[in-house]
Amino acid sequence: MNLYNPLKVVPPLVTGLWTTFKSTLKKPVTIQYPEVKRPVRERYKGRHELKRYDNGLEKCIGCALCAAACPADAIFVEASENIDEKRFSPGERYASTYEINMLRCIFCGYCEDACPTEAIVLGDNYELSFTDRSQAIYTREMLLDPVPAGGEPTPREVEPGSFDRSIPEMKDPA
Ligand code: SF4
Ligand code: SF4
Repeated sequence: MNLYNPLKVVPPLVTGLWTTFKSTLKKPVTIQYPEVKRPVRERYKGRHELKRYDNGLEKCIGCALCAAACPADAIFVEASENIDEKRFSPGERYASTYEINMLRCIFCGYCEDACPTEAIVLGDNYELSFTDRSQAIYTREMLLDPVPAGGEPTPREVEPGSFDRSIPEMKDPA
């Protein structure tokens, strides 16, 4: 019987042991998360971010096109009027309420595509865990990027007539 024939049994056994030995020489692939975080792929779609201009003004103009484009009905936007004494974004309006229900979101990126000012962007943050349904509602304050260096926070007082365009000049996407 083959089972007791050393010529049939030993070579596969040695091959198996050699494979195991070789794997012990390789660098481990285990990542010590959360202390070490592996970079995500370039086109990864993670948690949304609401972007600001370099001067600190918010890119979102409260138009709700992202909410209209969302197939999961995950976005709620409520807009308010900007005034020169209290300006959040260029143009007439800003999003006074902006919420995304992460329990509904399917990370399709349609909101990003629909946004005329490139305000909403799916970033690389994948740490989305909650212990309560209400924690899955990400508000405008949670989503807004920090004010860039050299910029000013919002709201801010500006000279009358300094901002009259909602949509900035933009290059076609590469
Ligand atoms: S990524 Fe898709 S599902 Fe999620 S909020 Fe945007 S449009 Fe809606
Ligand atoms: S994120 Fe973009 S599409 Fe959505 S309300 Fe703001 S400006 Fe409009």
